[in-house]
Amino acid sequence: MAKKSQNNFCSKCGYKLESIHNTQTSEFNCKKCNSTFYLDPKVAAVVIVKKQDKILLVKRSIEPHLGKWSLLSGYVNRGEKVEEAAIREVKEEVHIDVSITELQGVYSGLSPVVIVVFHAVHNSGELSISNEVSDFKWVKNEEIPELPFIYDQEIIKDYLLRIQNN
Ligand SMILES: [Zn+2]
Repeated sequence: MAKKSQNNFCSKCGYKLESIHNTQTSEFNCKKCNSTFYLDPKVAAVVIVKKQDKILLVKRSIEPHLGKWSLLSGYVNRGEKVEEAAIREVKEEVHIDVSITELQGVYSGLSPVVIVVFHAVHNSGELSISNEVSDFKWVKNEEIPELPFIYDQEIIKDYLLRIQNN
């Protein structure tokens, strides 16, 4: 998910950029024209689509983690409302319309991506596969498998705690 910090070039003069080391390679300097550039974090929305005591998982048909079961998720476009990105990603992946019911939380610090996790319910449309997803299934809360992304374990742990307390 992270862009490699090597081979970044100045967008003003084309000279190779050097990382300024005390900021964990998020800040770069051009030695030639002395411009400074910042690598911003990316934002992704993750959607836990709930149906009674089950949640929706999808089998990924794109990298990373091609072929693995996963929560529905996707990057937020610049200028896009995060909730709308969440709804759009679900529609793109499995062709259903969902309503966001709550914000579970924000997960960050382990990767360059800031994850915003929502709960949602199926509103309309029929589930079907797409070019991003080769299969889908409803999984009981107590049978959620280990999921592949870096924040998934924490996301599922928090999800299970939250539904226990409701
Ligand atoms: Zn430059």
